[in-house]
Amino acid sequence: MKKLLCLGMIVVMAVVGLCGCGADKADYLVLVNKSNLIDSGFVDTIELVEVGTVYDSTAQIEAKALAAYEDLKAALLNEGVEIGIDSGYRSVEKQEQIMAEFTEKYGEEYAKKTVAVPGTSEHHTGLAIDIVPKVDGEWVVENEDMMKETEVFAVIHEKLAKYGFIIRYPEGKEDITGYSYEPWHLRYVGVSAAKKISAKGITLEEYLSK
Ligand SMILES: [Zn+2]
Repeated sequence: MKKLLCLGMIVVMAVVGLCGCGADKADYLVLVNKSNLIDSGFVDTIELVEVGTVYDSTAQIEAKALAAYEDLKAALLNEGVEIGIDSGYRSVEKQEQIMAEFTEKYGEEYAKKTVAVPGTSEHHTGLAIDIVPKVDGEWVVENEDMMKETEVFAVIHEKLAKYGFIIRYPEGKEDITGYSYEPWHLRYVGVSAAKKISAKGITLEEYLSK
């Protein structure tokens, strides 16, 4: 009898373990790119949290990624570098809406050239954050201006892995990621993977294909 009870408990524990009990079901290594569309159910596996952007608006970011971002931001402040959030999660529906608007306004050809195909943006995961740095008291928000802030981004990038982030679209890896270098686009993958990816100087695609 006692033995049976124990066995029952083990079975219950195993089932609970398999379920993951909610919060930690998110796949922090999910790969989304031009040839890997996001699963329509992915958003239901993550907890999105609202956070302020540098534009007096709000963005949503996955809970664990946001907590890691807050730690990264605090560590950077100690180094005299301030970062803010430009954007985070974007739904597939929102991307479809943008695509439809552009198609109506400018035609299908132009829309396809300028708007990411719905389902292929990493911002659908809630794990990608576009950041902006503050330089001489001003947020540097334009992409071409950020490209000139190489010293500031070097300080930021040096700290990323410790907090579980990678540069998702590194310089010189355009043929693998499908995107040109974006120093502002951070992707949360967790500390262990981020440290390995950063130490090897590889992309998420290369890390996952081994
Ligand atoms: Zn981005």
